[in-house]
Amino acid sequence: LEGRPVARAILERAREELAEYVTQAGRPPELATVLAGDDASAAAYVRAIHRTFDRVGIPVRDVTLPGDVAEAELREAVAHLNADPAVSGIIVLQPLPRHLPAGIASELVDPAKDVDGITPASAGRLAVGLPALPPSTPAGGMAILEHYGIEIAGRHAVVIGRSPVVGLPMALMLIAADATVTVCHSRTSDLPAVTRQADILVAAAGRPGLVRPEMVKPGATVIDFGVSFVDGKMIGDVEPAVGEVAGALTPVPGGTGAVTNAI
Ligand code: NAP
Repeated sequence: LEGRPVARAILERAREELAEYVTQAGRPPELATVLAGDDASAAAYVRAIHRTFDRVGIPVRDVTLPGDVAEAELREAVAHLNADPAVSGIIVLQPLPRHLPAGIASELVDPAKDVDGITPASAGRLAVGLPALPPSTPAGGMAILEHYGIEIAGRHAVVIGRSPVVGLPMALMLIAADATVTVCHSRTSDLPAVTRQADILVAAAGRPGLVRPEMVKPGATVIDFGVSFVDGKMIGDVEPAVGEVAGALTPVPGGTGAVTNAI
């Protein structure tokens, strides 16, 4: 399940929808990124956002704050973007500098502009089945399943991981798509016995090689969100040998990660 063809299809649809939007609104929507400090992965994500948005023709405004930014200054910067009618979406890059209160980003962004699905309002809407802006990583996973025509309704999906950015929203979206869903985490006893039941197995633990071939039902679809670096090499949560048992598998790299920005 290669991610790039999915990303291309998403961007193609975005270009069409953008043209319609500009006709109606008279201007393109604008994304704002807020980066505080010099975290290398956050800065790389901003560059990737620019590359993707340039391809579609959506302007991106960067707000860059110093690593020792005061909480009040961050609040003011995001409030300014919330109030600016030219800004349609806001992404506050994580991780924020450590001196800022945990979870502050999710309190600051206007839920109507919460394109990364980090606010409690977005999470709540997703949980109760209302139209919502979901976090992009699991939304990308769902887009992969849809793009490749993987049937979800009535099938047993097992999600390893319950974080608010990947595992939990993925489980909620699979429920909304009528799967029967089991959620596993670090305290799950006998993980292999649970994962072997999965028609769709989702790995979002951040533990390299956690999922081995004997843990996978033959023919199952496996979605690997894991990103770890071992000896400088990017590897997922799923051992590559799982490809010999599974019916379909997202590669790492080139699978889920390739879709996150596009979605
Ligand atoms: P996280 O907040 O650390 O959550 C990890 C989850 O996995 C937790 O729920 C944890 O259980 C569970 N877990 C850890 N070890 C386990 C084990 N041995 N057996 C079963 N469950 C276990 O991580 P995250 O932010 O959700 O990210 C997960 C992975 O996705 C990471 O590798 C991250 O880099 C990657 N990621 C990928 C993308 C992408 O676009 N592909 C985007 C974002 C993140 P507890 O709740 O009990 O602690």
